[in-house]
This record gives sequence, C-alpha cells and structure tokens, in this order.
Amino acid sequence: MKERSPRLAPEAFEEPVYVTRPILPDLRAFTARLERIWETRWFTNKGALHEEFGTELARYLKVPYLSLFNNGTIALLTACRCLELSGEVITTPFTFPATPHVLTWNHITPVFCDIEPRTMNMDARRIEPLITRETTGILAVHVYGAPCDVQAIREVAVRRGLKVIYDAAHAFGVEVNGEGIGNFGDVTMMSFHATKLFHTAEGGALIVKDPERHARIELMKNFGIVSEEEVVLPGINGKMSELHAALGLAVLECVSGEMEKRKRLAEVYRQSLANMENLSLPCEIPGVKSNYQYFVVRIHPDGSGFSRDYVYEKLKEYNVFARKYFFPLCSEYGHYARLPSSNPRGLPQALKASREVLCLPIYGDLKPEDVRRICSIIKSLR
Ligand SMILES: *Cc1c(COP(=O)(O)O)cnc(C)c1O
Repeated sequence: MKERSPRLAPEAFEEPVYVTRPILPDLRAFTARLERIWETRWFTNKGALHEEFGTELARYLKVPYLSLFNNGTIALLTACRCLELSGEVITTPFTFPATPHVLTWNHITPVFCDIEPRTMNMDARRIEPLITRETTGILAVHVYGAPCDVQAIREVAVRRGLKVIYDAAHAFGVEVNGEGIGNFGDVTMMSFHATKLFHTAEGGALIVKDPERHARIELMKNFGIVSEEEVVLPGINGKMSELHAALGLAVLECVSGEMEKRKRLAEVYRQSLANMENLSLPCEIPGVKSNYQYFVVRIHPDGSGFSRDYVYEKLKEYNVFARKYFFPLCSEYGHYARLPSSNPRGLPQALKASREVLCLPIYGDLKPEDVRRICSIIKSLR
C-alpha cells in the first residue's frame, strides 16, 4: 500500500452507517389506518386494507394481476407449485439463499447457470446447454434491479417448452421502456422485506398476466379454500395481514420520494468514484428506470493488497458497514456444493463477481456529504 499522511485521512463516522435503512413512514399515516382495523376487528383474510393495497400496488407497478403474500419466499414457493415445476430448474448461483431453497422445498434440483459480468444476471446464452429431459423451468433473478435479458430468456423458454419465473425482490418499481418489470415471464415474485426499497416489514407478492392463474394463486395462498365447505386444492397460508397492508399503504406514499433521494446519492457516488482504478461502477442500461435499491461497486484486486475484502474490513474501522452481497455463491453452500452444476469450472463469472462486489450504504436519510466521506475513505485506502 502507498504511504499516506495520517493528517489527510478522513475521519470515522460517529454513528454506524449501515448498508440500508427501511423507509419509515409518518407514524400517523400508519395509525390512521390501524384505527380502521380497530373499528372492524378485521385483522386478516382479504380485509379492506389488503384489497386497497393490492389495487394500489398493481397500479403503481403497472401490472395486471397481483396477489399479496406474507413474505417473498412463500410467494416464490407458491409460484413453483402453481406452474407445476418439477425435476430440474435452471437458476443463478449469484442470489439470496431463498432462490435455490424454494426449489429444494419443492423437491426440485437447482441447476446453476453462470452469469454475465455486466449486469451479473443469469447469462441467457448459457441456459440451453444446461437443459435436460428433467428441466421444467427457469428461475431468474433481476439482480440489484437490473433487468435480465428477458427477450433471450423468453426465446429459449418458448423453444424448449419451459416455464419462466422472475425473482424481482430487488426490482420494485423498475421499468423497461415504460413497462413494469412484473410483466415478463409466467410469474414474477416481489419481496417487501424491511431491507428492500419498498417494504411492509415482512411481505411479498406474485404478479401474473392472466386471470385464471391469478385466481389459482389466490386459492393456493389460502389453503385452497373456496367456501366454508369447499376446499379444492392443497394450499398453504401465504396471506398478508391487515397490519402489514396498513404499513404497505403508508410506505407506498413515501417510496417515490425515497427513490428520488437515492437517485441523487447514486449520482454522488458515481461522481466521487469515477475513474478510480480497479473499481467499477454499476452498469446503466438504456431504457431502464432504476430503483436504486442498492449501490454495488466491483473492486478488482490489483496485486497491491487493495481488494474487496480489504475495503470491506477497513470501512468497518470507519464505522461503515458495507455488505459482500452476494458472497458466497449459493453453489458454495454445503447443501448445494456437490451438485454437478456447482462445479466452479462452470461458474467462472459468478465466482469472480462474488469476490469483487461490495454493496455501499444507500438510503434516503443518508446525506450527500456522508456519501462523499465514504468515497474519500475508499479512495484513501488505495
Ligand atoms: C429478499 C430476497 C428474497 C426473499 O424475500 P423474503 O420476503 O425475505 O422472503 C428472495 N430473493 C431475493 C433475491 C431476495 O433479495
């Protein structure tokens, strides 16, 4: 490492700076809605707030049919069942554990496909060689909100008769040429966990295009109950409560403002870190409206000791808690490591990305000067 004068070193933050903080709506905007629950004593099972929230959310996301869930993982489990996936499903190792785990919970073998380095999404050109007679679907993730190559994935899926699920846990509010991100594939899942851009504390949704499939999902998330005396399929309890819907309605009022603030912070990051050697900024894709859920840089080791892990550790000394998101790869977890598709030789880009990515703090209440300070800390480490 280069010698530098300690005098010039940026100061540590007095309070810890975390990678994200959830949107906190005005408490009265939340409690006003709780009063409606207290008046009716209706806490769950398609209450008035649930219905209002579902309608508003579908409009905001520009999608035709949306089912609310108690979390994104149960939603994704239900999506696999609804499409009757079985055997093998092609997915990405560069994701949150929930993605391959829902396949496992459905007795499906995940088949890990390498990623393409720019967006870090599943590389559509590498799907076809992984297809066997057992393959029934593709489960792709819009990583960090960057849309997958939906056209190429659709082509492979149509040609080979496969179903497509998108995990859009990172992509709330993302649009491609004005179209909501939920309009691609057979089913799209969203997560409303508190760490995501938009949240209901815990929550999620499934988005589909046709009313029959929507009706089936609505049944599946409520035990398959049609009426008091009629149960038509073995469903699960995936319902969102009125309390969560109340929070969702209040947070929805804040989400566009939050995105604007994050957008400005992302611009500060871009300006401050531009032209830094061995550090690359997130890709910008023409025609895509981003949501700024994450700000992820890649730090390429240069042999001098400057690396992702070094920056991650050093930032902690300054009270900045960045995240190595996603590290390790899902294919490196004990449960999946022995699968043939987990062989590192088949996943060079995913492995490289997992060793280079670093999620930097981004949330509406962070100040532009905080971002500048984080950037000068990073620069001082080179
Ligand atoms: C958060 C997340 C999930 C799981 O969502 P929950 O609502 O927490 O169950 C799934 N996939 C990805 C990529 C995620 O980031």
